[in-house]
Amino acid sequence: MNQISRRGLCLVLSAPSGAGKSSVSRALLEREPDLRLSVSATTRKPRPGEQEGVHYFFREREEFQRMIDAGELLEWAEVFGRFYGTPRAAVEQALAAGRDVLFDIDWQGHQLLRQALPGDVVGVFLLPPSLVELERRLHGRGQDAAEEIARRMDAARDEISHYADFDHILVNHEFHRTVDEVRAILHAGRTARARQPWLPDFVGGMLKV
Ligand code: 5GP
Repeated sequence: MNQISRRGLCLVLSAPSGAGKSSVSRALLEREPDLRLSVSATTRKPRPGEQEGVHYFFREREEFQRMIDAGELLEWAEVFGRFYGTPRAAVEQALAAGRDVLFDIDWQGHQLLRQALPGDVVGVFLLPPSLVELERRLHGRGQDAAEEIARRMDAARDEISHYADFDHILVNHEFHRTVDEVRAILHAGRTARARQPWLPDFVGGMLKV
């Protein structure tokens, strides 16, 4: 039998910052060779260790606006006064080639992506075990000033209030278990009937014999 191609899916992993989203994303990308990360464009400045084209495409406001105007972004949103958006071309090419794409974007991005790519999005929301634990993790990260942490805690409450928009909700109690659960969601999503355009012909041929 020939290799049967399916359409790729968009796995959106959203969470308030500090809930463990980046570590879970990294582990997923290591364990799932057919999954690649959508690298967003942003107008915020790089944090220590962040690389252009790996963590984000860091852009000036004017360039970001040009990308919006030219329709080069699948979705974009303003978060903490900075702009974030998903470059369109890489995602559309991957999906058409049957590769899955992981998105580390917020609830607004998830909603807009669902509208831009109906039927292609599987949304997973990661909850921290508690807000106290979330604040502890944000302090532990040591990357952001106290004022930034306070802002992120406010944003976390807002982000969490949108949990019901997502298909799957996980509480990140234990890292390895969370990674396994997201992988199970990805594997199940790959076999969804709507993602197998070849199925009617395949089953039709099978039933004819
Ligand atoms: P950070 O500055 O901590 O990297 O990201 C801040 C927030 O922006 C996070 O909630 C992250 O998920 C979100 N974000 C990152 N890239 C995108 C994007 O392309 N689109 C949208 N809508 N949100 C994004």
